[in-house]
Amino acid sequence: MVDGYSRLIDYLRISITDRCNLRCRYCMPNDLDLIPHSQILRYEEILRICAISANLGIRRIKVTGGEPLVRKGCLGFLKRLKAVDGIESISITTNGILLEPCVQAISEMGLDCVNISLDTLNPAVFAELSGMDALNLVLNSLHAALRAGLRVKVNCVLMRGINDGEILAIAELAEKYPVDVRFIELMPSEFGQEFIRFSGDEALSIIAHRFPGLKPESSFHGSGPAKYFTSPELLGSIGFIDAIGNCFCEGCNRIRLTSAGFLKLCLSHGDGLDLRAMLRSGATDIEMERAIEEAVRWKPKRHIFNEAQSVYMRMSQIGG
Ligand code: SAM
Ligand code: SF4
Repeated sequence: MVDGYSRLIDYLRISITDRCNLRCRYCMPNDLDLIPHSQILRYEEILRICAISANLGIRRIKVTGGEPLVRKGCLGFLKRLKAVDGIESISITTNGILLEPCVQAISEMGLDCVNISLDTLNPAVFAELSGMDALNLVLNSLHAALRAGLRVKVNCVLMRGINDGEILAIAELAEKYPVDVRFIELMPSEFGQEFIRFSGDEALSIIAHRFPGLKPESSFHGSGPAKYFTSPELLGSIGFIDAIGNCFCEGCNRIRLTSAGFLKLCLSHGDGLDLRAMLRSGATDIEMERAIEEAVRWKPKRHIFNEAQSVYMRMSQIGG
């Protein structure tokens, strides 16, 4: 699909649940009012939307949450998703808590990549930030995923005064292991706005000092907004997703489906399409195709974070 600004939209992020087993303070700090199960899309409904989207040119899908692995049947769903015609790449974003026992199955079904969120390597900071003393589970999952031969990306959201002292320690994961470590600028979501952003540019200058051979990667790498850097000292690479510091909306290629079936055109705008209402009122595939195409035509030009009209984002519902 091509939107009203000639951007090719071929990437869909799907949040399959708003539930999570962690309580990250910048995302879901407490037991928020959750979406009733009856309003969450069933796997069959999500798969139907994926097949329709594939017909429209969606080629890559990311499964996210809340925490996707807390939803019963997630692995079976991933396997069925893998079989949808036209979808070339499927990845999952997880907090890693429940990942270790799943890595073998994930590797066997041929998932293209596992993104593991890891904001700190300090067990006490992890417990404080996420509400669970479980850093070891995440690290075990990371190692298990690497042993299983999965492609692994580590996502780290930087917050001033919380984990900015660990930038080098986290970047060094890409020195020790063949992982892509991505530093993500904190976005002003519902709870993210209570923390102070640490810019990607600042993180880059700290890392470049430690790895003098660091160079922007010239070849195509990944399907998203991350800018990657490599160095002979690294087994993996280091990426930056700095939505605020360096707006990358010009090259945006994505749309998002929330667990409640709302097709969201941009993170910071409320506009979108209620696909659940269409699914449950008997719309045909052709009607849904047309509606999605039409909605995508109205995808906003850029995000409006920090502007008055920005809608509050509950990341655990949208999936990041
Ligand atoms: N539970 C899974 C996880 O943590 O990876 C998937 C869902 S989580 C919402 C997806 C990503 O969004 C995580 O990497 C998380 O750190 C990130 N995230 C949440 N709130 C954010 C914010 N305000 N700004 C930037 N990233 C955020
Ligand atoms: Fe859960 Fe992921 Fe949000 Fe943390 S960032 S509360 S793990 S959804």
